[in-house]
Formats: sequence, C-alpha cells, structure tokens
Amino acid sequence: MKILKVDHIGIAVKNLAESSKLYEMLGIAQAGVEEVAEQKVRVSFFPVGDSEIELLESTSPDGPIAKYIEKNGEGIQHLALRVDNLEAALAELKAKGVRLIDEKPRYGAGGAKIAFVHPKATGGILLELSER
Ligand code: ZN
Repeated sequence: MKILKVDHIGIAVKNLAESSKLYEMLGIAQAGVEEVAEQKVRVSFFPVGDSEIELLESTSPDGPIAKYIEKNGEGIQHLALRVDNLEAALAELKAKGVRLIDEKPRYGAGGAKIAFVHPKATGGILLELSER
C-alpha cells in the first residue's frame, strides 16, 4: 500500500452555498458541485495546492451527513488519503486486522473509488481511502 497524499478534508455543512462563501472569501476557486446519490450528498470541491477541501451537504434527512450534523454539528467529518491501489490497500488493512466500513471500493465524487476505515480503528477519525 502506498499513500500518495492527503487527497481532501471532508467538512459536513448544513448549507453548501452559505458555507462556500468562506472559501470564496479566502480566494479559493470552487471546482464544481456534484451530487452523489448513493451517499445522499451534494459535494463541492475547493482545490488547495495538491489537496482539496470537500464540503458535503445532505440531500436527505436520513443521509449520513445529516445524521453526522445532528450528532456532532457542522465541522470536519473525514480525512481522505489517496492510495495508489485501493483494492490492494483494503486487502492489506484487512489482513492486518484493521476494522473497515467498506471491504470493497464504492464510487465517490469525481469518479473516485473510495472506501472508509472504521473510526474505532483510527482513534475516532473517519478515514477515507481514495483512488483516482
Ligand atoms: Zn471525501
């Protein structure tokens, strides 16, 4: 498994347009908005250097982001690391006994293959592994 970089930091927000204003004020150009139906989210990316800030707004009251905000309020929801080969990374972590949420990749925003590692295995951080 090779970790290539911090791919993005995922931030749960109630209102994408409202929360985007801060990043626009910081002079970061928005790279587009995308809806990921499977995750019940609308996502907006703000590229910063070689990484991105990902704002996530729920499209449904029963979506994972809505539930996260209900429990924790708005804020940093996950950290995403880019790997060279997601299937291989998941197999390696599984073999090492690391608890995974996704044992198989699923599709995320931007056509990336993603999978989540369980926060119980990472000291409370929802860790996303992504390949694109
Ligand atoms: Zn993400």
